[in-house]
This record gives sequence, C-alpha cells and structure tokens, in this order.
Amino acid sequence: MHHFDPSTEIQDYLVFGEYGDVNPSITDSSTYTFLSPEKMKELFDHEVEGCFLYSRHWNPTNKYLADALARLEDSEAALVTSSGMSAIVCSILQICSTGDEIISGRTIYGGTYAFLKNLLPRFGINVKFVNTTDLEIVKKAISDKTKIIYCESVSNPLLEIADIPKLSEIANAHRIKLIVDNTFSPIIISPIQLGAHIVIHSLTKFINGTSDCVAGCVCSSSDFIHQMMDINTGTAMLLGPVLDSHRAASILKNLHSLHIRIEKHSKNALYLAENFEKLGIKVYYPGLTSHSGHKLMKKLMNEGFGFGGMLAIDTGNAEKADALMKCMQDEKVGYLAVSLGYFKTLFSSPGHSTSSEIPKEEQAKMGLSEGLVRISIGLDNNIHKTFERIKKCLGNVGFLGH
Ligand SMILES: *Cc1c(COP(=O)(O)O)cnc(C)c1O
Repeated sequence: MHHFDPSTEIQDYLVFGEYGDVNPSITDSSTYTFLSPEKMKELFDHEVEGCFLYSRHWNPTNKYLADALARLEDSEAALVTSSGMSAIVCSILQICSTGDEIISGRTIYGGTYAFLKNLLPRFGINVKFVNTTDLEIVKKAISDKTKIIYCESVSNPLLEIADIPKLSEIANAHRIKLIVDNTFSPIIISPIQLGAHIVIHSLTKFINGTSDCVAGCVCSSSDFIHQMMDINTGTAMLLGPVLDSHRAASILKNLHSLHIRIEKHSKNALYLAENFEKLGIKVYYPGLTSHSGHKLMKKLMNEGFGFGGMLAIDTGNAEKADALMKCMQDEKVGYLAVSLGYFKTLFSSPGHSTSSEIPKEEQAKMGLSEGLVRISIGLDNNIHKTFERIKKCLGNVGFLGH
C-alpha cells in the first residue's frame, strides 16, 4: 500500500487570484504586453516565471490547471492540451525520430492504437505490440532502437493492471522512457511514484467528469515539460494543441471534487461487479478477487479510492450485447455512448466502437469478445435500484437462464 494522498495535494493547492478571487481569473487573451523590448527578448531566450508571451505557449489559466495536475501525479511539472490524443502524440513525437522503436501494450485505447499502428510507420517509427503484463516478453522485445515502453495503468477495455514498478526497472536498465496513460485510474494509481517517467491523462474522462469538453495533460519532469514547450523544438508548442482557458478553469474546479467522485464511482462499480458475479456472469473488474490483476492493483493503489468506476461484462455475442445495451438505455440505467468518467452511467460495446480500430483477429487474441459490454458506472445514489434495472434487462435478453 502506498501512502501518497493526491487528494490532500490538491486540497492544499491554494490560489490567490488577481483580486483575491478564490477561483483564479480566467485569462481572456491570446497575447501579452511587455513593458520593454528587452524583457520580450529575454522571454524568447528562456522562460521567466510568471511571465507570459503568447497563449499557444502558456497562459495563466492553463498554468494553474497544469500545476494542480502536477500535484495530482506528484510530478515536477505538467502541461495541458486540447485532447488526450494530442497529449499522447506530442509526448511520443518529442522522444522518437525516424528509425526508433516503441514497445506498446496490446490492450490500449483504440485511438492510441490507431496512431501507433497507422500513423507512426509513415514517419519511420515502428511499434511492437506486446502483452505488457508479461515482463519477459517486454524484455525480449527491447532492442537498441527502442525509446519508449508505452502502457495504460488500467487497460481499456479488459482492465488489465500494468506492473509499473517492474516496467520502470526494465525501462531504467535500458535508459528508455516509460509512458503510462492513467486515464482510467486518476487519484487511485500514481504512476510517477511507482517509477513512470511520463504520465498522460485524457482529462475528458474522470478528471473533468461532466462530459462537456475534450482535454488532456502530460505530467513529467520539468526538463521534459520544458522540452515539449520549447519555442524552437517543442511538439506541444509547434503542433499547437492549445486548451482554451475557459475550459481549463472549469476543469480545475471539477478536479477539486475528483476524490469524492472516484470513491463513489468505485463503490458503485464494486457493488455491481460483485452482484453480476453472483448471477454467474463473466465480469472484468479489478476489485474482484477473480480478476487477474487484483493482487497487483492492491499493491500499487493509493488507499481510500477503491478500484475505479470501469467494469466490463461478457454477454457472449454481439446480438446479446446490443439488446442488453438497448434495454439498459430504455430502463434509464444510463446512456449508450462511448467515453467514461461521467456522472451518469455510460456503456458501449468495445469491439464495435472504441476498440474497432483493432483488427478482429487481434481482438480475439487479446480476449476481447464480441459480446463485451464496457460500462462506466455513474454516481447513482441508489445503486441497488440500478442493479435491479440491469438484472431485469439481463433477464429480458435471455441471459440469466432458468
Ligand atoms: C479517451 C481516452 C484517450 C483519448 O483522449 P481524448 O481526450 O478523447 O483525446 C486516451 N486514452 C484513454 C485511456 C482514453 O480513455
């Protein structure tokens, strides 16, 4: 058990705004004035704390949010971007050049998979997709061209748990970077504490929690964040995925309730997972002792936030999955929609949506069944009633037998 408490780090983040406003003022400017040309020249030479140049580089509101996210992940520094994908793409392109290789987990977010598989080879960067839960396979895959080991702390959609300390040992032994996408387990797992070099989030999901915007972040060493923001060579600066400052301000406010939300998401998810299992349904939830990553997750997780709000059930085939999801929407369990981390329950069938970029035979190899339904559990106050509604749907689609 780790004793790092991200919620206290965020709580202790006090900001005294321009007028003593408890929520820092939202900066409404793309550019910033200088009192002298000399000062402007100085800022082009190197960053000056508290000085701003142009909003694609930094703006004060984005800086407030980035500093709070660095606290969440216990990293030296952080930057925010306009999407989780841009955070991933910019981090990888900051490190890799033509001829380099990446070792990536196989069960990763569909968009990340598509980028690694379809776009990177165009730039001469090749990716080996392996089962990153098997450390021997990871070691064997490394060559002198490898620059990055890439994984998700809790993988999508089967919720496999990455052994971050062991992967970090392997990365350090080869002087390469371990990048961890922590989107599924913010506050629960702290990858930097466990040895990761770079942590990515899609803020779109749990961290914002209201499904009203798309955003991302990178948490890492000050050195790496500076590299990404470098005016001449930084990917975040030059590819330009800027987060709007109004959005940054609203995400920062939502971040302050993350600990309460995650606790409730986790509690509700565990309740459903245990009860689905009692019905004899194949459930993937790392809080269940039957889950392959249960013991490892217990070892890695911070105390008090549970095992997260994501679970998956296997209905056996695509028809049943579709019928179940239709019924669940009709019964007001939540919405048939992609994405996750919303206050309402969201469900989709990964094989036909978020993981559809992954070829069918690859999906089968990963254990990604056609009948899989991925559910992001909401903040329902009466989770027992939600369970009864889902149970009714399972019965309707002939899943419970007689
Ligand atoms: C959604 C998601 C992303 C991509 O983030 P966007 O904000 O949609 O660009 C990356 N990784 C994971 C695990 C995700 O769930």
